Amino acid sequence: MLREKIVEGMRRGIVVPEGLIAHGRGECFDYLIGEETRGFALEAMRAAVAALLLAERPVVSVNGNTAVLAGCDAVRLAEEVGGRVEVNLFYRTEERARRIAELLRRECGAGEVLGVEDATARVPGLEHQRGRVSPRGILVADVVLVALEDGDRTEALRRMGKRVIAIDLNPLSRTARAADITIVDNVVRAMPRMVELAREMKRLPRESLVEILEGYDNRRVLAESLEYIARRLTELARDEGLLVRPL
Ligand code: ATP
Repeated sequence: MLREKIVEGMRRGIVVPEGLIAHGRGECFDYLIGEETRGFALEAMRAAVAALLLAERPVVSVNGNTAVLAGCDAVRLAEEVGGRVEVNLFYRTEERARRIAELLRRECGAGEVLGVEDATARVPGLEHQRGRVSPRGILVADVVLVALEDGDRTEALRRMGKRVIAIDLNPLSRTARAADITIVDNVVRAMPRMVELAREMKRLPRESLVEILEGYDNRRVLAESLEYIARRLTELARDEGLLVRPL
């Protein structure tokens, strides 16, 4: 079903061919974690929601794959944390940016969507089209949530001093390693779960949110995700009787 959505997204001019390949990479890593939200992802989501709720100017960045897979949840999440939604594309064309914004408005009831006509500012260190952002959105944001993002852009956002939250199924990607908070989970599970968490965590006092955020360690969480994959594969091999000698 997800694959169909991505293919349909391409027919609608929202997803690019590179997005299909990225989706395939994601599917592979999703197999490895058993296509479920694991403890390490949930811990990262809690820290991410705390960061978004504490932020002064949070932005949820939406690209083609994210729009077709979890666009409406991205809109809901931005609403819950009092943030903005911005279309931000690696392979940018004005037409595609417009189509994504239209999807978010028509199908998800989004109010203002940034990053279309107003993508006039630049992220330093990125080639022209790839660095275009809204001066009212990502440029001035203190916390940015990205999904299926490219490593160069994640690193560039970090250099600008932003706190970056990434949803990325590959714990080894440059994005996963450069982000402040990495949610190793499928965007289709993570985004709605974060909306729920935001609704619950909004009631917490500020100090509790700060505590959650300060107690979070992304290196440990990434290590746990790799350890989980390794353990799971070992157990699967053992179940199949394939493991003939201990590692
Ligand atoms: P990097 O540049 O960060 O090293 P990359 O070259 O793989 O990684 P992209 O192709 O821009 O960069 O990133 C796409 C990332 O999104 C991949 O790591 C892929 O595993 C991940 N991904 C693909 N589909 C999903 C999904 N549905 N949910 C979460 N992550 C996904």
